[in-house]
Amino acid sequence: MSTAPLDAIQKLECFIVRVPRDVPYLGPLRDGEFINEKGYLIRKGNRSIYPSTDQTVVLKVTAESGRIGWGETYGIAAPEAVKAIVDNLLAPVIVGRDVSAPAVIHDDLYDLMRVRGFFGGYFVDALAGVDIALWDLYGRITGLSVSQLLGGRRQETLPAYVSGLPRATLQERCDLAVEWVNKGFKAIKFAGAVADDGMVKEMAALREAIGPGVDLMVDMHWKHEAAEAVSIIRKLEAHGLYFAEAPVQSEDMTGQVRVANSIGVPLALGEELRTAYEYRPRFEARAMSIVQPEMGHTGITEFARIGMMAQAFHMKIIPHAAISIGIFMAASLQASAVFLGLPYHEYQHSIFDRNLMFTNGDMACENGFYKVPTGPGIGVEPSEALLAMLEDA
Ligand code: MG
Repeated sequence: MSTAPLDAIQKLECFIVRVPRDVPYLGPLRDGEFINEKGYLIRKGNRSIYPSTDQTVVLKVTAESGRIGWGETYGIAAPEAVKAIVDNLLAPVIVGRDVSAPAVIHDDLYDLMRVRGFFGGYFVDALAGVDIALWDLYGRITGLSVSQLLGGRRQETLPAYVSGLPRATLQERCDLAVEWVNKGFKAIKFAGAVADDGMVKEMAALREAIGPGVDLMVDMHWKHEAAEAVSIIRKLEAHGLYFAEAPVQSEDMTGQVRVANSIGVPLALGEELRTAYEYRPRFEARAMSIVQPEMGHTGITEFARIGMMAQAFHMKIIPHAAISIGIFMAASLQASAVFLGLPYHEYQHSIFDRNLMFTNGDMACENGFYKVPTGPGIGVEPSEALLAMLEDA
């Protein structure tokens, strides 16, 4: 039996978008930190490079009928690499494919570079952006949301945790935490990399400021050896820690397992992983009890697979939220709403609200909850402001 194609892909376009910001991500520059001639800075606290502006990659797929789907992928550093992969490798080979087969196309594209060892990195970021655009197009043509296409939506809102307190001093960070609690948010994650007097003092001060009824989590930025991480986390537990994120280096799965088995709170990880293949050994080894898939790295197809695996291993899903213009953010909410009892979705308050001006739709984050957008596909579309930026890109 053959099935008639729903519509065919005519073209795929890719744009780099940059949005200026007043204060760099993770807060003001510390001693010895500076912005280089290409616009990047290296954070001493976690040895990682960040752009001084927000950068992202937007994708536009057009069907023969003229219908359009939108995607976005991770563009934090050297987004030009992602654009080259989309323009040169992925865009030409999807022309003519049936729009109703996004997961099939995803797997075909993954196979293009598989034997060369491109199991992640920029190649899979590019693939993630294409994947989101294809699911969005399929949804817009059928009139269904991505949640519906994935099998059905369990919830219209998702609890949000406030991510990071980008202020220069501990007192200012405590004041900001109180502000968020007063706005109705019930969970806050602080960044170990910018806890200037150490994580234990930071957490004690935050707990004192916000009181006992708010979940507090720590991002440990892959900085610690396993025994050291266990020692710190045990001290943080005394102040009511909800989870510890990324305590040891990403490659150290043995260390992750050791920490996970030695602490009294959940270990969360996964923001830097892109596929179910990368997650699989960590599921099998019980290297974590909370998974943090990042839509900008996974795309919808792999996000859904990782989430289903997490459920099969009785682990919780608390999705990561990278710097999004709003498109992969909407995709993440669509795919998250499919899962039962998702405790939280990360909320990048310094980016999300400002970037709502770049999309049209009813996506929002208020009083501690995300509203999952209700339109077809991912549920949001570029606004006039974003379309104007794409014309200039
Ligand atoms: Mg993190």
